[in-house]
Amino acid sequence: MRIRILLSALFLLASTANIFSFSPNKSARRTLDFYFIDSEGGAATLIITPARESVLIDAGWADVGGRDAKRIQQAMQQAGITAIDHLVATHYHQDHYGGIPDLSQLVTIKHFYDHGKMTAMTEDPRFAERYGAYQAAAKNHTATLKPGDTIKLKTAAGTPPIKILCVAANSAVISGKESKANPECGATTPQEDTSENGRSVALLLSWGGFEFLNLADLTFNISQRLVCPVNRIGEVDLYQMTHHGGNVNNNPLLLESIRPSVSVMVNGPRKGGHPDTIMWLQKTPSFKALYQLHRNLQIPAEQNTATEFIANLDEQPDEGYMITASVDAAKRAFTVTNGRTKESKTFLFK
Ligand SMILES: [Zn+2]
Repeated sequence: MRIRILLSALFLLASTANIFSFSPNKSARRTLDFYFIDSEGGAATLIITPARESVLIDAGWADVGGRDAKRIQQAMQQAGITAIDHLVATHYHQDHYGGIPDLSQLVTIKHFYDHGKMTAMTEDPRFAERYGAYQAAAKNHTATLKPGDTIKLKTAAGTPPIKILCVAANSAVISGKESKANPECGATTPQEDTSENGRSVALLLSWGGFEFLNLADLTFNISQRLVCPVNRIGEVDLYQMTHHGGNVNNNPLLLESIRPSVSVMVNGPRKGGHPDTIMWLQKTPSFKALYQLHRNLQIPAEQNTATEFIANLDEQPDEGYMITASVDAAKRAFTVTNGRTKESKTFLFK
């Protein structure tokens, strides 16, 4: 009897201890997470959805000894995932899709998306070899994204649905509902553009009132067609500036129309991050912050964004600090963290 009482007491103690040591289930935390991975002037943006699916937009450079693939793998480890569910190759320039063969050697990639098949590209003498390596990594199973297409994603229980919409691809833009004319446009006439940058897949992610726009290297002309004569994008909270923040393709009209609160430049120490673009953005109504993956070393330090918003200050190729963002739809806020300083700032949805 005494033993039974003792056992019961022990059981009670154990289960009570268990109750009190119970911590909130990690999976109950439903955020949408972004990792802007430094590929030294290329692009690689990892998105983890609230249902813990992964979407990678571009995979950095070819011919860098697997550096960018390793950085993507490190970001995946930090995110607690082991495979890429959806990989979008925005266009066939080596700073965007070049790293895919290296990445496919390290991790499983389940679905590939791009703007369509191509047989030649005049500006890349090694196009056949690089495109062949990409197709081999994808085992020739690639899906073509057209404006209006979405990437099928799961909705996490208790959270709003998530949508990734293709707004431009292969030099075409989403038609969408025609609404009232965008007053920013004036008498502009959008031009045709069939450059490879102009063929970039551009994606708009929406989740519970939060909007993220990634234009890859979309050009001035196609950007203009996205917002003129009608604004087909609306306003966004977080914007990955097109073309690494260079001034040729960032269109002030686009910035005035989409009015991003927070922008991220995926620039390199000597690529993109143009002072004109930085100035245009800072003049945009609703501007809250600009993050740069690198300080642009070709201009005076003060023409860059403030140092606290820069992930990599010098030319130290081993650093590769990221910018990350975590979105909480319930709080209608997102928190952006500089990987170098570990400092975070929180911004409210529009
Ligand atoms: Zn690029």
